[in-house]
Amino acid sequence: MNILLDYSLQELQELMQSLNEPKYRAKQLLNSLLLGQDTAENTTLPKLLKEKLQDYIWQPIKIHRAYEGKDAVKFLYKLVDNNIIEGIVMNHKYGYTLCVSTQVGCRMGCKFCASTLDGLSRNLSAGEILGQVVAVNKYLQGNIENRKITNIVLMGSGEPLDNYENVLKFLQLITSKDGFNFSKRNISLSTCGLADKIEKLADDFPGIILTISLHSANQANREQIMPVAKLFDLDRLIKSVQYYAQKSGRRVIFEYTLIDGVNDSVEDALSLRNLTQNLMCHINLIPLNYVKERDLKTSKNIYAFEKKLKDLGCSVTIRNSLGSDIEGACGQLRRKVLQGDLDE
Ligand code: SAH
Repeated sequence: MNILLDYSLQELQELMQSLNEPKYRAKQLLNSLLLGQDTAENTTLPKLLKEKLQDYIWQPIKIHRAYEGKDAVKFLYKLVDNNIIEGIVMNHKYGYTLCVSTQVGCRMGCKFCASTLDGLSRNLSAGEILGQVVAVNKYLQGNIENRKITNIVLMGSGEPLDNYENVLKFLQLITSKDGFNFSKRNISLSTCGLADKIEKLADDFPGIILTISLHSANQANREQIMPVAKLFDLDRLIKSVQYYAQKSGRRVIFEYTLIDGVNDSVEDALSLRNLTQNLMCHINLIPLNYVKERDLKTSKNIYAFEKKLKDLGCSVTIRNSLGSDIEGACGQLRRKVLQGDLDE
């Protein structure tokens, strides 16, 4: 697959050169791509150049369906290979936050999450991740200077650090002055805890907000709900988080989904405080969102758990995920196969 959104401006310039076209065509092409145009919609490039580009894919992400909820819109995106992935844009007071997916499916196997139910199908390319931003910005009637999406969270389906090179390239493209020019401060990357890659990210691209899906501060318990904990234990994870915080100068966010009888006891709160007390961090408590294939319930102690942590001196808030009315909240995004009623 030759996806033009995978290319940086410099790479498009090299492509133009190889096609015997003037260099300035690269910027015209990039602008057109970022506006969500297909070859037919483009009016700036000569016909001959478009013919030379006929084997290239302009828009790798097509919005197949959009479900408008109270405070969010959930999208079904169709990929070039007919895979369907989901995404969600949330309407906050300050603007729109887009939650992007980084893989078709996921192989991390967390016991509470819908994205991993069928395992990993494949990685998304940088252009397929960027294509989600392009498609939704167009849907919201934004353009390049006046883009409607203000924040990006890599919290859709997939484990971003399990698709490291493509995600890194996406981060470079999305923050590029030649493109959407996002500020690093407005980008959050969430990981289940691939410690080696967290350290690599600290070296390669510090400055974006790092979010750790922790969900338990007890090693044995965490292994039960998150198989990745067997690969990188809590000590190793915290070392990598410290390294990231030090390199980026930013506090790290811990996500803690409260599951009834699994991680919501007073001892769990104590372990969480002990694990995080020497870190520059904030804790987000998230009520568990319903996933029909999973036999887990949200905690009944959410407020008590928050109060306990506050009393212990933690910086903590309860975060309700938006989009649960359209099954687009944290952990509810999943891969779909194009068939039946989807196949129009
Ligand atoms: N793989 C990455 C990115 C996914 S982000 C990660 O694990 O961080 C999605 C977030 O939703 C993660 O914090 C995940 O742990 C959380 N989550 C998964 N299932 C959930 C559920 N049923 N209810 C609430 N949060 C859930």
